[in-house]
Amino acid sequence: MNINKSRLQEHFEIISQYGKLGETGLCRPALSSIEKEAFSVVTGWMKEAGMTVRIDHCGNLIGRLEGKNPEGPILMIGSHLDSQPYGGRFDGTSGVLAGVEVAMTFKEQGIIPEVPIEVVSFCDEESWRFRKGLFGSRGIAGKLEPGELERKDKDGITRRQALIDFGCDPDKVEECAYAPGSIGAFLELHIEQGPYLEEKDRPVGIVTGIAGPLWLTVELQGFAGHAGSVPMNLRKDALLGASKMIGEINRIVRQVEGIPTVATVGSIRVFPDAPNSIPEKAEFTIDLRDIDLKRRNDFEQKIRTMIGEVADEFNLAAEIKEDTKLEPVECADWIQEIMVEESESMGLDSPKMMSGPFHDAMVMASLCDIGMIFVRCKDGISHNPNEFASFDDLAIGTELLYKTARRVTSKLNSLIRS
Ligand SMILES: [Zn+2]
Repeated sequence: MNINKSRLQEHFEIISQYGKLGETGLCRPALSSIEKEAFSVVTGWMKEAGMTVRIDHCGNLIGRLEGKNPEGPILMIGSHLDSQPYGGRFDGTSGVLAGVEVAMTFKEQGIIPEVPIEVVSFCDEESWRFRKGLFGSRGIAGKLEPGELERKDKDGITRRQALIDFGCDPDKVEECAYAPGSIGAFLELHIEQGPYLEEKDRPVGIVTGIAGPLWLTVELQGFAGHAGSVPMNLRKDALLGASKMIGEINRIVRQVEGIPTVATVGSIRVFPDAPNSIPEKAEFTIDLRDIDLKRRNDFEQKIRTMIGEVADEFNLAAEIKEDTKLEPVECADWIQEIMVEESESMGLDSPKMMSGPFHDAMVMASLCDIGMIFVRCKDGISHNPNEFASFDDLAIGTELLYKTARRVTSKLNSLIRS
């Protein structure tokens, strides 16, 4: 191996102390003092790797390894150091430390990359603190939305204030955006957060694309009444309608076998929420994801039609609100090809797979070609203190990332010349 597995493991063990929760868990909120401490530790490692380091006004930590051609398109590598409130040590952190290890390996081998490499820990990927995530990558991509800085966390602290406390100037977040064309490619290593690689008995996988999530909220309006006196045939029971819809959503998506489409109803609210009242209102969410936009649109249509029909059946008024609608993105074919070749050269047979969860790479795809490596994680568990990936697997993934980075930097350089 080119990379240093024991150094990677040591970095991991050190950084896991920052926000340690119980024996194996992690709570490292975005823009917190704990994240800032973790940033300063990683800054030290970046400097050891010969990088110049800065924190931009969006709260992104960025280390830059200069290239032979400093004006050349940047190869960006990154992920995030923030975690879920009741999270694991590997989600996000793996990708940042793997990026640092890649830079250290370049330095150790005396290789100056043809174009600059920037290793990034993106600010607030996880989204829970201000209920809107991918903040840092959207800042770099110039995709921040009006009003974002005024969003508050559960303690009433605005993102604006959190940025100030972190040492950033929130009035300058727009300066974080990179000029179109300045980034040539983006690579992210991430734990799989699903059971596929374990089932296939493979340490790493090559990601073909990231599913686009569609988030809807369905509001059903019925009529409240006494649970003891209103005859069954005269009721307008909003929860009864919702329960049939939830079952139907699951059935619709499962009609076609062997497709990766997933649909989830993860939250429901009932009014008046009393045992002896007929539910007047029910509100539930739908999370629908697919790598194939046309297929997702077809399923969305079927679900919307079904909701209308079931609402009629139960005498309910139904309203569907769209919360989030993101298009699926594809990983660049040429980067996937490099990963396949390099993985074969390592004696691996790495399966290609899509990503159901979204990542910073999804945002970066609006700026440049992207590639992603997944690392097997135990039982597919993530967003949980029991999240685990072995250091053997992480080292294999990091080695593949290094080999890919070598080839991608050369390729980006040859593109300018041609
Ligand atoms: Zn993550």
